[in-house]
Amino acid sequence: MATTNTVPFDQMPGLVWFDGKLVSNPDAMIHVLTHGLHYASAVFEGERAYNGVIFKSTQHSDRLRKSANILDFEVPYLSSEIDAAKNLLIEKNSMPNAYVRAISWRGSEQLGVSAQQNKIHLAIATWEWPSYFDPAQRLKGIRLDLAEYRRPDPATAPALAKAAGLYMICTISKHRAERKGYADAMMLDWQGRVAECTGANIFFIKDGKIHTPIADCFLAGLTRATAITLAKKRGIEVIERRIMPDELSNFSECFITGTAAEVTAVSEIAQWKFTPGAITQHLMADYTAEVQPKGKAAAA
Ligand code: PMP
Repeated sequence: MATTNTVPFDQMPGLVWFDGKLVSNPDAMIHVLTHGLHYASAVFEGERAYNGVIFKSTQHSDRLRKSANILDFEVPYLSSEIDAAKNLLIEKNSMPNAYVRAISWRGSEQLGVSAQQNKIHLAIATWEWPSYFDPAQRLKGIRLDLAEYRRPDPATAPALAKAAGLYMICTISKHRAERKGYADAMMLDWQGRVAECTGANIFFIKDGKIHTPIADCFLAGLTRATAITLAKKRGIEVIERRIMPDELSNFSECFITGTAAEVTAVSEIAQWKFTPGAITQHLMADYTAEVQPKGKAAAA
């Protein structure tokens, strides 16, 4: 895993965009009595800039605002203002190729379950995060555990928001998987159907067709949408449907998608084995080409 920085995140050099101001990263602090920390009233985005351009920036900003609305608060900036802030930051941090994290949360004016008076904050940070999974494994395929926790029923939790609180079960599941030597874990949904990984969506291939779970109780990733479009462009049929775990032995290939993970091949999920093949490789290459800024890629 390439996720452990040698420098702790609170000591990285560079700037953070914090409520409209650029502050040095170590100074971008919040108080311990922050509602977002105690009650997980926080929503965030993970994005990537390639050659100075953030892929699907506005869609990420729109999703951030939508996630906040699901959690009953309003991000106090328009998507166009969030886009401008992100662009300013990658420029000031001289990071044309960066992971971009925007987070919005309830502040410290009130600290109880009720949070009507709390100020809403927005911060944006960038760092270099070349590959979420070991680059050598991305083509060969990573190994996934089967998580014990399941994605919650949308009637139980705000399942479609990219909300901090939903990651509690993801971190526990990922830690358990890593302790067993796996790279990540695949989670089922509340009805026992295949859902997604702890930070990425999942796809399977059988007889030249792609199958992926219907994203109605987990995050419908922007990378997932890109992969579906790219597959269709290649004339590959994409079937969104309910997938039960006992079907996994019928699939030949498996891959996952996410902003951080990009397109990564999977070789194993618990007892099920897959052999990364042509479709996965084509989509990995197509995705790499797709995220490049069009004007610059053509000029390069
Ligand atoms: N599911 C979860 C739980 C995630 O954290 C992510 C990463 N944001 C995804 C799916 C993929 O979303 P996207 O492709 O928009 O990054």
